[in-house]
Amino acid sequence: MSKPELWVIAERRLDHVEPTTQQLITKAKSLAGDQFKVVTILLEATTDHLENELTAYGPDEIRIVRDDRFPTATDAEHADALKQLVDAYQPNSILFGATITGRSIAPRLQAKLQTGLTADCLDLRFDDDTLVATKPSYGDNIMCEIICPDHRPQMASVRPNTFVATPATGDATITTATVTFHPVDRLKVTTARPVVNTATTVGDANRVVALGRGAASATTIDTATKLAEKLGGRIGVSRPLTDQDRFTHDDQIGQSGNTIHPELIINFGISGAVQYLVGMQDSQTIVAINSDSHAPIFDVADYGYVGDAQAFIAALLAQFN
Ligand SMILES: Cc1cc2nc3c(=O)[nH]c(=O)nc-3n(C[C@H](O)[C@H](O)[C@H](O)COP(=O)(O)OP(=O)(O)OC[C@H]3O[C@@H](n4cnc5c(N)ncnc54)[C@H](O)[C@@H]3O)c2cc1C
Repeated sequence: MSKPELWVIAERRLDHVEPTTQQLITKAKSLAGDQFKVVTILLEATTDHLENELTAYGPDEIRIVRDDRFPTATDAEHADALKQLVDAYQPNSILFGATITGRSIAPRLQAKLQTGLTADCLDLRFDDDTLVATKPSYGDNIMCEIICPDHRPQMASVRPNTFVATPATGDATITTATVTFHPVDRLKVTTARPVVNTATTVGDANRVVALGRGAASATTIDTATKLAEKLGGRIGVSRPLTDQDRFTHDDQIGQSGNTIHPELIINFGISGAVQYLVGMQDSQTIVAINSDSHAPIFDVADYGYVGDAQAFIAALLAQFN
């Protein structure tokens, strides 16, 4: 009987393999022993040969799906292709890098498969055929071991550089597989995103207009976006706002989002939870607007105003007109 498969999903960054892929192959091989077959899944263009960057790390098999649309495919299109592969091959477990791309594709696939995903792990082991994923929880205060006993495949994403990639002996078998490419409409996504300068993530912006639960209405977000444009900056958000379709992990500030050091951050309607503060407290100039004078955000602010966020944004914007 063939061994159950332990998958590592290869990630492309520009024209190369993202290094977390090789790190995960090394870890997968050490976990697999004689129990599992380590299979690297690679979605690439017909002219690509990214498998050449993977063979030295010794996976048992590199399974390639070639389609010229993959290099520019959306995360939703990748997740759709992976779902078809999972249906065809029924792996035991799937590992992703917890990169920005991996953090986007893995939960999309998880939702399609209706199985468990442990995100942002720091260690992995197997207990028989159950994947035991270790991750920090409760504000990084404790380490939890999380399992998915009732569903397969088991999924985990692992922080980059958690493991060291080590070249290994062994000939990887290279095979190909096919899927049906289902294009996903991109227009809605691109028009809705409030990116106002060239910064790809909030971590790249030098001026940030940050919005929290107290500044989450559509009107406030639209006004704040105009303010960010005037400042030559970018919108950032606290975690609750990532529930809205228009914001993603790229926009989130904090422990589980981006750590930022802009020259200016203006915080609207953000309480200042410790998980938020660790992501922005080293900014050069911190301004906070909050209706609660006791909000912890004022403890780190250079300038503060107690009052309504929307009224303040509108008044500040008026100064530019
Ligand atoms: C493991 C873990 C990781 C986390 N990672 C992150 C992270 O990366 N980033 C993050 O942000 N959070 C993170 N959180 C969540 C964090 O603990 C807080 O829940 C979150 O930061 C609160 O967001 P907030 O300040 O927008 O909302 P709230 O805490 O609800 O604060 C809203 C604020 O708005 C004010 N307000 C209300 N109305 C108005 C108004 N009209 N005008 C002005 N002010 C108003 C209120 O006084 C209040 O202070 C994490 C939590 C955990 C457990």
